[in-house]
Amino acid sequence: MFYFFFFTPANKVIGLILLLLWGLSMWIFAYIPKRINARLHRKVLDHGYQICIHCGYSLRELPTQHRCPECGNEYTFMQLEHDWKKWYSVKSD
Ligand SMILES: [Zn+2]
Repeated sequence: MFYFFFFTPANKVIGLILLLLWGLSMWIFAYIPKRINARLHRKVLDHGYQICIHCGYSLRELPTQHRCPECGNEYTFMQLEHDWKKWYSVKSD
């Protein structure tokens, strides 16, 4: 009902513009999180899964079992690798 209002002859152009803007915003909302996720995935792989799963802090050059200096989350590198692999297998990107 709401959409038909925009397609009365007088509002056809406005309706089309709004439709295009709506499509564009849908594309942006789908595309940007995907890009952010791809960038994070690359970072995780570059660091050999030594990234805090809670805050994304690099845990390189820290002991294999310790607390994240950024958020205080306890980790082991084995657990992190397992968690990251699980995260990306669920997201299947
Ligand atoms: Zn952290």
